[in-house]
Amino acid sequence: MSVWEETLRSRLARLEQEGRLRSLVPVARAVYPVLERDGRSLINFSSNNYLGLANHPELMEAARKGAQRGAGATASRLIVGHDEETERLEQEIAAFKGTEAALVFGSGYTANMGVLSALLQRGDAVFSDKWNHASIVDGIRLSGATLFRYRHLDMDHLEAQLRLAEKKGIRRKLIVTDTVFSMDGDVARLHDLISLKERYDAALMVDEAHGGGVFGPYGEGVAHHMGLAGKVDLHMGTFSKAFGVVGAYVAGNRTWISYLVNTCRPFIYTTALPPAVIEMIRTSLRLVREAGSRRIALHRKAARFRNRLKALGLNVGPSETQIIPLIVGDVHATVKLSQSLMENGVLAVPIRPPTVPEGTARLRFSLMATHTEEHLETAIDAIERAVRTEGVTIHD
Ligand SMILES: *Cc1c(COP(=O)(O)O)cnc(C)c1O
Repeated sequence: MSVWEETLRSRLARLEQEGRLRSLVPVARAVYPVLERDGRSLINFSSNNYLGLANHPELMEAARKGAQRGAGATASRLIVGHDEETERLEQEIAAFKGTEAALVFGSGYTANMGVLSALLQRGDAVFSDKWNHASIVDGIRLSGATLFRYRHLDMDHLEAQLRLAEKKGIRRKLIVTDTVFSMDGDVARLHDLISLKERYDAALMVDEAHGGGVFGPYGEGVAHHMGLAGKVDLHMGTFSKAFGVVGAYVAGNRTWISYLVNTCRPFIYTTALPPAVIEMIRTSLRLVREAGSRRIALHRKAARFRNRLKALGLNVGPSETQIIPLIVGDVHATVKLSQSLMENGVLAVPIRPPTVPEGTARLRFSLMATHTEEHLETAIDAIERAVRTEGVTIHD
């Protein structure tokens, strides 16, 4: 056996021992509230398709229309010149976010990784919530900046670290945060973050991956919902979640965006998004703006679902959004609960340490505006039964 084969096999065996080996499972109808997996119909609580737009007929039509201009973009944007529709899309995003300019990326992962590694340099200080998304963590790592990781939502800890950086004479400081956190469904303290950034002369970047489409009068995100958008230096968001497509944006003033055009390597050295995708994103931006009633339905369903679980004595953590954890605690109990739900037609994926803190393994429920009351009742009944029959004791 080659040294690589041997090493990879032993690393995989180790993951398996730790109960962390993952594998890919085929799925059909994932864009619907009920999907098909392993020959079973399952109510889908595992997608990020919060507004149920991913199967919208206008998006399919937009893809067909875009594809008439060609299948691929043929080169990176700085080389061949960019599609006029891409320019139009970026103007529309800037108008939507109320910024001077915006830039489109192929994915949220590359946007965060690229933007943070381009803005931050060795000697700069970056302040990152402990539970920020992996793409933020990776961008910071790549930048070589000094990382100050503050405890989740702990503003006192953040302030102590800002003071420390100031004492060290670090001039450029950047605070970066998810607005809605994907593991607990809780929300960043943007008011406090803004007063801290002003007091310590730092900049603030927000990641609206789970807030975009869902919060704000027109789905602009949490910063708009809180009336604080104008105080954020750089807005980032994805088109892959509530928007139902793929891709991402960064929006801010002209200087920041031109700087990124010139320095952000995952923007420069990659082929532009194809016309079909650009058309879908443009259409989805309009659908999201017009989706006021879907947003209301989603928030109402999420509140009801949370309250029903709480009434059963279950622990939904600090969730205040469409992302609702059911915190079990023990890893094996969590996995068993997930299997039992699956046998009863409900798909909620178990999330284990190290993705979440030790002792807080959980099932995560992501609600959709298109879940019916019946879907939710079926799920709640199944949860109640599964908790009872599995003898799961819920961690507080
Ligand atoms: C999903 C997610 C991303 C990555 O976005 P993709 O478009 O899926 O690459 C970035 N940040 C956060 C907070 C996310 O939840």
